[in-house]
Amino acid sequence: MSLSSLEGSLHRGCGGRYAQHTEQVTVRLSGMASEVTREFFRCEKCGHEQRTIEQRDAAEKQAVEQIRAAHGLLTPREIRQLREELGLTSAQLADVCYGTPRGIVAGWEKGRYLQNREADALLRSLRDPEVFAFRTARAGVVPATAADAATGEAVAGEAVADEAVAGEPGEAGAEPADAPTAEDAAGAS
Ligand SMILES: [Zn+2]
Repeated sequence: MSLSSLEGSLHRGCGGRYAQHTEQVTVRLSGMASEVTREFFRCEKCGHEQRTIEQRDAAEKQAVEQIRAAHGLLTPREIRQLREELGLTSAQLADVCYGTPRGIVAGWEKGRYLQNREADALLRSLRDPEVFAFRTARAGVVPATAADAATGEAVAGEAVADEAVAGEPGEAGAEPADAPTAEDAAGAS
């Protein structure tokens, strides 16, 4: 049975019943704080209070949204988009954010953790090619875009060579469309 349904339930300690109330609490996250309204249950007879996981989670989620809005922090989706634009895996992004554990960086993107202002500024700064080049070099990270470009060239080169070799005997009759390509490649090299 879910703890979220404490409304009207029995407090065995005194025989009273729980009812839902709200309270103003300050939720602190990553060095920032936000005031939110949190629900909780109070025994109407003895005043015993209970706060469920759902109530805590809802309050924290609200705080995250308010803090993100107040400080203009990147959303999890924006962080993922930025990482993909930069051609980094989440492990590489963590390496570029040296000093920040990989699990934390991955958690920013999943919305599990909220990046602080310094981390947010760092993430944004990676859009500057000079900053990005400096930080990736210092972290020993080779972005996937550059790696792909290099690999792509090599693969393309190999593919053309294979085509030229394999194309001669078999493809001449079967695939006329490929024949010019193979010839062009052969002629170019
Ligand atoms: Zn009670």
